[in-house]
Amino acid sequence: MRIVLLGAPGSGKGTQAKKLMADKGVPQVSTGDMLREAVANGTRFGMQAKAVMDAGNLVPDEVVLGIISERLAEPDAENGFILDGFPRTQQQALDLEDLLDEIGTPLDTAVLMDVDFEILMKRLTGRRTCSLTGKLLNVHFSSQEELDECTRAGGELIQREDDNEDTIGNRLNVYRDNTEPLIDFYREREKLTAIDAEGSIDEVYERLTSALE
Ligand code: AMP
Repeated sequence: MRIVLLGAPGSGKGTQAKKLMADKGVPQVSTGDMLREAVANGTRFGMQAKAVMDAGNLVPDEVVLGIISERLAEPDAENGFILDGFPRTQQQALDLEDLLDEIGTPLDTAVLMDVDFEILMKRLTGRRTCSLTGKLLNVHFSSQEELDECTRAGGELIQREDDNEDTIGNRLNVYRDNTEPLIDFYREREKLTAIDAEGSIDEVYERLTSALE
């Protein structure tokens, strides 16, 4: 399985990629996660990326390409990968095509996860991570029981630095201007599969796996 999950911030790419990874044994490759790791490690490169990410803008294409080429060369990506948050620009999509051509493993498909704007806003503003378990929760959608489970155990519900309203607005604009054109990019190459990504995590996962069959 070699796929791209395409969709706006908050469309559920990360959540669905993790489920697919657990089920199919294919690694989730998230440029956002890798960049956040570089920030957390405090490398000079991480410090530069942090300002760009906090503003909701895109890290330069060549930086992201470097990260992705290294990651896809690792042994666990030999049998496939789930790209989450990459490509985000036409240049990145072309670079990915070249990279996969070089290793002779073309992409199977790009899955567009389609979600209404209002729901995206709720998913993003409400998104929290439990500091103890790393579990992804949402103050608008998770049950009170699930939220309490984290806090009662002494955990905190942490909000991502770029999940505040100002940055979210910019991230959605950046998506519309830079990433949405990739829908046509993959459609023209007959590599686009669109799914309705509204509803519960399990409902969306069911649609995703049926679309991939
Ligand atoms: P994500 O976790 O995918 O929402 O990514 C968080 C942030 O990391 C984005 O808002 C960008 O600043 C940066 N980022 C992640 N992936 C890319 C990419 N493919 N190209 C450029 N910037 C990226």
